[in-house]
Amino acid sequence: MLNKKITELLVGTNNNGKLREIKDLLPKKLKIYSPSDFNIKSPIENGKTFKENSLIKARYFSKKSKMICLSDDSGLEIGILKGSPGIYSARWGGKKGNFKKAMKKVFKELDRKSKNWREKKIKARFVCALTIYIPGKKVITSIGKIEGSISNSMKGKNGFGYDPIFIPKGKKITFGEMRPSEKYRIDHRFRAFKKIKKFF
Ligand code: IMP
Repeated sequence: MLNKKITELLVGTNNNGKLREIKDLLPKKLKIYSPSDFNIKSPIENGKTFKENSLIKARYFSKKSKMICLSDDSGLEIGILKGSPGIYSARWGGKKGNFKKAMKKVFKELDRKSKNWREKKIKARFVCALTIYIPGKKVITSIGKIEGSISNSMKGKNGFGYDPIFIPKGKKITFGEMRPSEKYRIDHRFRAFKKIKKFF
């Protein structure tokens, strides 16, 4: 346990969608920085799991900035695609982060697996690993998941990444159709954050 609450923090992501969502989870009194404030580019994510990649980012950004860093690594796992895109979720969007392209790739891969996948329930989940790296002191990691299924088509303009094709369990609409305030309170990032909230 830390004996002092964290009062300033670098959120280790160069993804604006994520930065926005993570900022929204953190207490308003916290002073928040991002890698772009220090001109730090993202490291190569060569871990084999979400947890490893979140640690790679948190350690890297913390060492570069000398600040406490909170990083996330997250992605979409689709059951019948053996967990793909998984840790490669960002890469399916290509260098420019084109998620229309990434979602089309999901549909193409599903077509390949099963011609009538649109008539079935295609199970999927979002996973998020959060790591807090405290220079010279401590590493804290937490995992959050949300189960759901893949929508027949892209729906909704809210959120980012794969939000338009993910329907959380128990709901009838995609994350892309949900109000951001509704998504934030149930998603994988929120669930991971709940477990480490006490440090802020
Ligand atoms: P990374 O953690 O930076 O490697 O990127 C994870 C990728 O997973 C993002 O670029 C998104 O495409 C996807 N992703 C993670 N969380 C979400 C989410 O809440 N909604 C939609 N897509 C997400």
